[in-house]
Amino acid sequence: MMGPAHSLSGAAAWLGVGAATAAAGHAMPWPVLVIGALICAGAALAPDLDHKSATISRAFGPLSRGLCEIVDKISYAVYKATRSSRDPRRSGGHRTLTHTWLWAALIGGGASALAVTAERWGVLAILFVHLVLAVEGLLWRAARVSSDILVWLLGATSAWILAGVLDEPGKGASWLFTSPGQEYLWLGLPIVLGALVHDIGDSLTVSGCPILWPIPIAGKRWYPLGPPKSMRFRAGSWVELKVLMPAFMVLGGVGGAAALNFI
Ligand SMILES: [Zn+2]
Repeated sequence: MMGPAHSLSGAAAWLGVGAATAAAGHAMPWPVLVIGALICAGAALAPDLDHKSATISRAFGPLSRGLCEIVDKISYAVYKATRSSRDPRRSGGHRTLTHTWLWAALIGGGASALAVTAERWGVLAILFVHLVLAVEGLLWRAARVSSDILVWLLGATSAWILAGVLDEPGKGASWLFTSPGQEYLWLGLPIVLGALVHDIGDSLTVSGCPILWPIPIAGKRWYPLGPPKSMRFRAGSWVELKVLMPAFMVLGGVGGAAALNFI
């Protein structure tokens, strides 16, 4: 899928989690719902850091372009080192290492560790990166025509303001994880979810997605998971734009309303 569909599906997924946790008695304070949805929308672009024309690889100028090259090289090396004789040969790392559940768990765990150990600056860094991505993803065309620096400024100021909101008592720093020292531990959750939702989105497209690596399926370590071929579509096709994206908006709206107990 393309950037906007990934971001929308990420936001909708977090709003759905909000509805589920509200039903389970752990209702999110509204800042957790809103900020989590934005983080998840941003995180749903992150696995494409292995592709140089992806939104995330262009979002932070030379920094993300350099990181993209490194991630592509590492992904390709891991693919070559772990492929079985049934996995096809390939020439680059796109849709390999960063498109797996293990990667999702690693970056989510890493973000939670950063938020807990680096405290305010860690939280600000996580918010900044994901808010910039959310703006790029959700306001795709609009972000393209404005300058990168404006988007970074918007990301930095909103990160600062939202971190202040979360810090207020009862507004979400210690949602779900309530023991002392566990503030902001939940920040890793929308990041894991965003990456997984991205992988599921990609698995609906023609080439599938090796989400379960390194668990072997049918003798392949990089088995491209997905529905039967007849149910798949091409990235950027009308199914994505006219069916999936409106569906994500409706589902997100329903999820958000249920999370805040409006329905
Ligand atoms: Zn992808």
